[in-house]
Amino acid sequence: MTDIEGQPLWVAIVGSGPAGYYTAEALTKNAENIRIDILDRLPTPFGLIRGGVAPDHQSIKAVARRYEKTAAQKNVRFVGNLNIGSDITIDNLRLLYDAVVLANGAPQDLKLGLSGEDKIGVIGSAEFVGWYNSHPDFASLNPNLNIKDVVVIGNGNVAVDCARILAKTAKEMASTDLAQHAAKLIHTAPIENIYLAGRRGPLEGKFTPKELGELGQLENCVALVDPKQIPNDLMGVDPKELTLKGKNLNHLKKFIENTSSEKPINLHIMFYASPIEILGGDLVTGIKFEKTKVEAGKCVGLGEYFIIPCKMVLSAIGYQSTPISGAPFDPKRGCFKNDNGFIENGLYTVGWAKRGPSGTIGTNKPDGIAVAKLILEQSSPSEKKGRTGLDELVSKCGLKIVTFEGWKKIEEAEENAAEGLAPRAKFSNIEDMLRIID
Ligand SMILES: Cc1cc2nc3c(=O)[nH]c(=O)nc-3n(C[C@H](O)[C@H](O)[C@H](O)COP(=O)(O)OP(=O)(O)OC[C@H]3O[C@@H](n4cnc5c(N)ncnc54)[C@H](O)[C@@H]3O)c2cc1C
Repeated sequence: MTDIEGQPLWVAIVGSGPAGYYTAEALTKNAENIRIDILDRLPTPFGLIRGGVAPDHQSIKAVARRYEKTAAQKNVRFVGNLNIGSDITIDNLRLLYDAVVLANGAPQDLKLGLSGEDKIGVIGSAEFVGWYNSHPDFASLNPNLNIKDVVVIGNGNVAVDCARILAKTAKEMASTDLAQHAAKLIHTAPIENIYLAGRRGPLEGKFTPKELGELGQLENCVALVDPKQIPNDLMGVDPKELTLKGKNLNHLKKFIENTSSEKPINLHIMFYASPIEILGGDLVTGIKFEKTKVEAGKCVGLGEYFIIPCKMVLSAIGYQSTPISGAPFDPKRGCFKNDNGFIENGLYTVGWAKRGPSGTIGTNKPDGIAVAKLILEQSSPSEKKGRTGLDELVSKCGLKIVTFEGWKKIEEAEENAAEGLAPRAKFSNIEDMLRIID
C-alpha cells in the first residue's frame, strides 16, 4: 500500500457509474492519505446501473451494494447534481485536485446515418432505455405506443432488452422498478409484432446467452426465427467464443420450433438485414432493409430489398461519450483521446468514456485498477485546495449539490413509495428528488 504522508492527495472522479466507483475502490485500497470526490451530474449515483440495466434484471443492479461500501469510506465523498462542463469546468477541477478522472460514460446514441432518421417514431435506445428506467433526461419522451409493429435495430443485449421490456406483461414486470409512466404505456400497447433486426448472422450476434434465452420464456410473446438463417453448427467461430456462441445457437434452434399463433405478440428475430431507409412523412411508416451475407467477416449487401411497415423504429446500435471542454476528444472512437487511461498530466479516463461502449459492468474494474495505479505513481500531494476549494466554488456559483446521505433519503423515499412487489418507485424529476432532501 502506498501511504502518502501529510497533505492528502486530492482526486476528483467525474461520473459515479461502475468505472468511477471501481477507480475509487482501487485508490482507497492502495493509498491511505487520499481524498476522493466522486462528482455526478445527477443527484443519484451509479450511472447505468440505475439508468441503463434493465428493470427486470434486479440481481444485476445489486452490484451497487459493492459501490456503497466504497461510498461509505471516510475519504470518499459523493457530490451529486454537479455537471462538469456546464456547472463547473474540467479546468476548475484541475486547479483544485491533484488528479482528475473522467468516468462520465458514453450516454449518446450512435446515429444510424439513414435517410428518414429524423422522423417522429425513430428513437435511440439511450432515450428509450432512459425513459423506462426513469432517467430525468428522458422522462418526458412519451413515445407513441398505440401501435402494432415495432422494429428494433441491433443485435446486442441493449436491443434484446428493449424488445423484452416491450413484450413483457404487467405481471412479469410486477417485481421490477420499471418507470410508472412507461408501465402505463407499455402494458396497454396493442403491439403484435416486434422485429429485432441485425445486419449480420446468428453467430455474429453480440447478445449473450442469458439475455437471448429470456426471449424464449415470455408469457405473451413468442420468439420466432427463420430456420434458413440458423446454421447447423459453429463452423468458423473463434475457438475462444465456442461456448458462448454454442449456447446462443441452441436457443435459436429452439426458437425454430415455435409458431406464430402461440401467443399475442410475435418477436421476429431477423438476421442479415441491413436498414437502408426509414420511410414515411413526418411520422415513420416503415423501414427498408437490404438483405446481406457475411463474407470474410464483412457484411455485404445482396441488392435485394424488403420493407417492414411499422410506426416505431428503436435503434440500439451503440453509444458514444460526450465531449467536455478541457479534455481532448476522439470523435471517431467516440471517447476521450487517451493512452491506457492517461490523457495528460493529472487527467485520466476510465470506463466507457475511455474505451467506448464495450464489455460488461465488470470490464470497467481493470480500467479503474490501472488508472488508480497510474495516479499513485504519477501524482503527489500539492498545495491544491481539493474539497474545500470545490465547496467554495459551488457556493460561489449558487449550486445545490447532493451528498450520499441526500441520495439515501431519495432512495428511502423511492422504496417507501413502492407498490406491491416493486422494489422502488423511482423519481424521474430532479426537482422532486431535491425536495425530498430539503
Ligand atoms: C441499456 C444498457 C444495459 C446494460 N445492461 C448491462 C447488464 O445487464 N450487465 C452488464 O454487465 N452490463 C450492462 N451494461 C453495461 C454497463 O452498464 C456499462 O459497462 C457501465 O455502466 C459503464 O460504466 P461507466 O462508469 O463507464 O459509465 P456510466 O455507467 O454511464 O456512468 C457514467 C456516469 O457519469 C455521469 N456523468 C455523465 N456526464 C457527466 C458530467 N458532465 N458531469 C458529471 N457527471 C457526469 C452520469 O450521470 C453517470 O452517472 C448495460 C449498458 C446499457 C447501455
